[in-house]
Amino acid sequence: MTVEVNYCSSCGAKMETREIDGTPRRACTECSFVHWGSYSVGVGALVVKEGKVLLVRRAQEPGKGYWTNPGGYAEQLEQIEETVRREVLEECGVDAVVRGVVALRDLPRAVHNVYIAFSMDYAGGEPTPDNVEVDAAGFYSLEDMQQMNVAPFTKWLVDVALNAAGGPGLRIDQEPIVSLPGCGLFRG
Ligand SMILES: [Zn+2]
Repeated sequence: MTVEVNYCSSCGAKMETREIDGTPRRACTECSFVHWGSYSVGVGALVVKEGKVLLVRRAQEPGKGYWTNPGGYAEQLEQIEETVRREVLEECGVDAVVRGVVALRDLPRAVHNVYIAFSMDYAGGEPTPDNVEVDAAGFYSLEDMQQMNVAPFTKWLVDVALNAAGGPGLRIDQEPIVSLPGCGLFRG
């Protein structure tokens, strides 16, 4: 599916379709702007405490009524580990700190979405729903979840969180061997 982009988001001139590096793309007729595509980055928190996973119940569409792990979308100018920490705190009042990246979901569609799941250490706070985005929150065991309307993707993530046989995943590189200002770095 191609979304038609009619005007340049850089200069406002008309866009046209022309072949760039062998692929037809929407490009500006006046400046060098090329619409490469539409992308979004989701961030999700997997906070485990005493074998139970932090879940929230969605109060809004999409997915209203489903239990999911807390999360949101990357912001333009915020490091993703800060975004995910903030989302957890805002949605359900739990303070948690990123340990590493443990899973990734790729979903190419009209807006190509990449979802990054973080393992996070519980640091404090009782799960309390914000009553805007979510209307219930808590730590739940697999047994608890059998009686709950857990979203399919969340089931997959819960399995990752509880059975991470692949090891700790990618960790934040606190002392990279070279200086890369502005970059968040994760490595195995
Ligand atoms: Zn332009």
